[in-house]
Amino acid sequence: MQNNQHKFDTKALHAGIEPDEATGAIMTPIYQTSTYAQPSPGVNKGYEYSRTQNPTRHALEKNLSALENGKYGLAFGSGLAAIDACMRLLKRGEEVISTNDLYGGSYRLFTKVHEQYGLKFRFTGMQNTSDVEALINKNTKMIWVETPTNPTMNIIDIEAFAIVAKKHKLLLVVDNTFASPYLQNPLDMGADIVMHSVTKYIGGHSDVVMGFLALNDDEIRAKLAFIQNSVGAVCGPMDAFLAIRGIKTLHLRMQRHCENGAKVAHWLKAHPKVDKVYWPGFESHPNHEVAKKQMRDFGGMISFSLKGDKMENAFDLLSRLSVFTLAESLGGVESLAGHPATMTHAALPKTEREKNGVTDSLIRLSVGVEHINDLLSDLEQAMS
Ligand SMILES: *Cc1c(COP(=O)(O)O)cnc(C)c1O
Repeated sequence: MQNNQHKFDTKALHAGIEPDEATGAIMTPIYQTSTYAQPSPGVNKGYEYSRTQNPTRHALEKNLSALENGKYGLAFGSGLAAIDACMRLLKRGEEVISTNDLYGGSYRLFTKVHEQYGLKFRFTGMQNTSDVEALINKNTKMIWVETPTNPTMNIIDIEAFAIVAKKHKLLLVVDNTFASPYLQNPLDMGADIVMHSVTKYIGGHSDVVMGFLALNDDEIRAKLAFIQNSVGAVCGPMDAFLAIRGIKTLHLRMQRHCENGAKVAHWLKAHPKVDKVYWPGFESHPNHEVAKKQMRDFGGMISFSLKGDKMENAFDLLSRLSVFTLAESLGGVESLAGHPATMTHAALPKTEREKNGVTDSLIRLSVGVEHINDLLSDLEQAMS
């Protein structure tokens, strides 16, 4: 069923997914093969070698690109491999302007790997288009946006930066990992490329590491496919199968993540021991209006700090949680809690991380799909 006019929930199950031609199998088979028989030299059924293309990966690419309203999709071995492919669109001396509270792994890839090969990165808050326009020069080629950001859930106005990118002929890439395609579709707002860590909400079960790019432009798609095949950072067929399986319930999971997320956020805000709560659904969130404009709901990612801002109080709380698991990552069905200052942001000096709101007592929650009462009582007992 190829009809991309369907609603999201229907596309999640059916877009790009056909019964297997050979057997009629309803579920996309795991084509665990590196190569394909050719009837005669140069003749094939569209598949020659699995680095270049694989039927299970191809089904995933069609399915997930439809969820981002993109013409094309490319699946990679990890989110960072997908980001790396985007950077390889650029040449020595060219520049990227990026969000300053970027995912740590993206920051490391930009500054520790690609700067060595002559790319230049400039970081800014992206709360106003003028901040970015001030940094544009003749070498600037790309704007890299991540929204909501980690861990303080800043929201960046995708449409506003799409206008800036068009005006200056720059590529706009949006890391849409935190929102998922269920909550936000950057291509519809004028972005050129959408990037995902499939590892998070899309896979949704904490059992796959994978990355994805969705886009509409034929020329950029050809360049990215060339880079992907040349570099070889592809995902395997088993992982593609797991991602397809995860996507079938993406809309259902996201509804519960959002519902539980809203309840946890409001509960935390009313708690006497809690200082700040970062969640874009609050009317008091500085970018609440932008979030309402570009997201369908506010997601299940929440950060909060404790009154007095003591690291030992945060550690105490984290060690007492039992339904929430202390772990890196996010977006799985199970609730996770993390301590950004010592986990995701450990590499930053205290003054640097505190500029981005990563204070000693800040705790980040990835609210899962468990029963809300169990999540709230777990937090309650851990706080007392
Ligand atoms: C996890 C993550 C990445 C990196 O993806 P991997 O699959 O871990 O390589 C990039 N951006 C964001 C926002 C992430 O959360």
